Amino acid sequence: MHRLAGIEMGGTHTVVVLGEPGRIDDRVEFDTTDPAETLGRAVAVIEDWRTAKPVDSVGIASFGPVRVARGAADYGTILDTPKPGWRGAEVIAAFAPLGCPLGLDTDVNAAALAEHRFGAAQGCQNTVYLTIGTGLGGGVLVAGKPAHGLLHPEIGHMRLRRAAGDRYKGHCAFHGDCLEGLIAGPALAARFGTHPSRVDPENPMWEPVAHDLAELLANLILTLSPERIVVGGGVTGHQPHLLPMARARVPALLGGYLRDCTPEVLKAMIVPPQLGDDAGPVGALILAGEALAAIPSPSHRH
Ligand code: ZN
Repeated sequence: MHRLAGIEMGGTHTVVVLGEPGRIDDRVEFDTTDPAETLGRAVAVIEDWRTAKPVDSVGIASFGPVRVARGAADYGTILDTPKPGWRGAEVIAAFAPLGCPLGLDTDVNAAALAEHRFGAAQGCQNTVYLTIGTGLGGGVLVAGKPAHGLLHPEIGHMRLRRAAGDRYKGHCAFHGDCLEGLIAGPALAARFGTHPSRVDPENPMWEPVAHDLAELLANLILTLSPERIVVGGGVTGHQPHLLPMARARVPALLGGYLRDCTPEVLKAMIVPPQLGDDAGPVGALILAGEALAAIPSPSHRH
């Protein structure tokens, strides 16, 4: 029985858990502030757990962009984020003093792993996990493994064909009207002039939002051929009409080209998470387990 720790470090909130993949025994949560304070608190929580019994390995599910390629000189470093103080923050280095195996991936790749192993995407080859909240992130599993490469997928910053007549300029600091700039929480508040929860589901202001989300879904289906697209985060979680509205527009965008994508198939393909807010922390524990399994030492074999 291993004792693993996982950290889900989101843009606004950090969750540190103790347990095993599929079982959370303890949890500490705090706001994500500056790097020194946030990473220091996470390390302190784990050190506190270690006073009782050793922690075998640690998995870190970090907001991005973050260098996920082991062996890169800047492995585990936050890259070009608009989040103040975090550009160049050395995430993996902060946990090195713990002296145990460390795993790292994006928060959304980790959440995809968790939904794939325990939740809505079990048995799928290719899976996309989207979270639409204060930002828009997307994790991708190809053949059950997180997609890495040049960096990692940055789905939130994809561009799309805009809805006819939609003049909103967008909210992304880098691109203006990329997906995150159009349909993440701050963009909706700016578009609507009020909190999205105050806009009635029948209000036509939702139409371009549903259009934009449908463009994203259609593009993901065309590029990644996923069997499941799990859509989490506060925006669709608190406005349950939005995902069905967007899903209903996907067949028209596909233009009859993918004959497998019937409305019934799309309904089973594009779903909310089953693990809710635990997807990230559970994914971090999966990363910890993988980091431990990658260690060749016989003392870690079971
Ligand atoms: Zn962008």
